[in-house]
Amino acid sequence: MLLETDVAVIGGGVVGASIGYGLTLQNVDSVVLDEGDGAIRASRGNFGLVWVQGKGLALPAYSAWAMRAVEQWPELSRQLESLTGIDVALVQTGGLFICKTPEALDRRSSDLEQIAARHDGPYEYEILDNQSMRNMVPKIGPDVAGASYSRYDGQADPLRLLHALHRAYRLKGGRYLPDHGVLAIDMKGEKFILKTARGDVLASRIVLASGLGNATLGDLLGRQIPVKPIRGQIMVTERLAPVFSFAMEQARQTIDGTVMIGSSWEDVGYDVNTTFEHGCAMARAAIDLFPFLSTVRIVRSWAALRVISPDASPIYDEVVPGAFLVTCHSGVSLAAIHAFETSRWIAEGNVPPAMRPFSLNRFGHVGAPIGAECSL
Ligand SMILES: Cc1cc2nc3c(=O)[nH]c(=O)nc-3n(C[C@H](O)[C@H](O)[C@H](O)COP(=O)(O)OP(=O)(O)OC[C@H]3O[C@@H](n4cnc5c(N)ncnc54)[C@H](O)[C@@H]3O)c2cc1C
Repeated sequence: MLLETDVAVIGGGVVGASIGYGLTLQNVDSVVLDEGDGAIRASRGNFGLVWVQGKGLALPAYSAWAMRAVEQWPELSRQLESLTGIDVALVQTGGLFICKTPEALDRRSSDLEQIAARHDGPYEYEILDNQSMRNMVPKIGPDVAGASYSRYDGQADPLRLLHALHRAYRLKGGRYLPDHGVLAIDMKGEKFILKTARGDVLASRIVLASGLGNATLGDLLGRQIPVKPIRGQIMVTERLAPVFSFAMEQARQTIDGTVMIGSSWEDVGYDVNTTFEHGCAMARAAIDLFPFLSTVRIVRSWAALRVISPDASPIYDEVVPGAFLVTCHSGVSLAAIHAFETSRWIAEGNVPPAMRPFSLNRFGHVGAPIGAECSL
């Protein structure tokens, strides 16, 4: 069976779902092609921060992009709730990056100073010592040096977000096709024929939004797409009375009361197992920051694979005419801008010149060392 569409989005994680939803707002006919339930999917295993601080160190244009993205988040949250009834639990009360030692705090301070100096427009942040941080997070341990604080940061529930985007996409007429992994890409004139085990799809334009799968799709199109997996393990505590009013890169309290503790940064290929060794190290580190956690039970843990480019920043490009690449680490933070802005360029059929800093060309030769700019 041949299915025809204007735009085929390949990948139904948070990136593909944000773009698919955005395409419905542009009244563009689209399908989202996805793999099955067992697929590798960062969108089901992430930490849920909606974050700005720290982004832009490796790629200066990223700080303004991230800031615009979080400004658009309340509108996305409002639209999703009114369409689907799903509250994605967005809270934007600011966020902290905790530094255990004075050296780490100095490093953080100089990184943020550098980002702010290159940022176009105001970039507010504060460096807090232990006492000032204690006013915001009374449970902080006495030996912690301090933290950086940014009012732009926040958090949301990433599973609710994924669910709401999928539901909103379908409610607005989008066609979501699970178990339709793209196995091959052929051309018919200027159109793409996407081969899946369940039939072919003919599309005028395609979006490569497959997370780690983009490397393989790039091979099919003759372009090298340098993304690789970096494992992150996360632990979740039992439910607690409210303890944190702010999201932190190292811990955040969810709307249900659980505290999420995260996350490791491991270069171990496609291995999605949790390990006792990292679990112990993460628990110890969390207790150092918040001693009260020593009496709290861990009820769940998992590992998921980040989608990491050589500078850990997003890539936006037209890899061959009509085939748009959208990939990033921070698909939750960028969900609103992907829905409202990126989908518009795709509808219009070109990546705007302002997005050139994010193109594949910046890597020159691929295979450069993988950056560790952000640790989410
Ligand atoms: C531990 C951890 C913590 C994180 N914390 C945060 C955070 O706090 N804030 C934040 O903003 N981001 C965070 N992230 C990053 C965020 O999860 C990712 O940026 C985001 O999920 C990437 O979404 P994606 O849709 O590109 O990829 P994925 O979620 O991996 O989805 C890719 C999809 O493409 C499908 N696919 C693959 N190949 C094909 C094919 N050939 N045909 C059809 N479909 C295909 C897959 O089945 C999958 O559904 C974290 C990630 C991890 C792992």
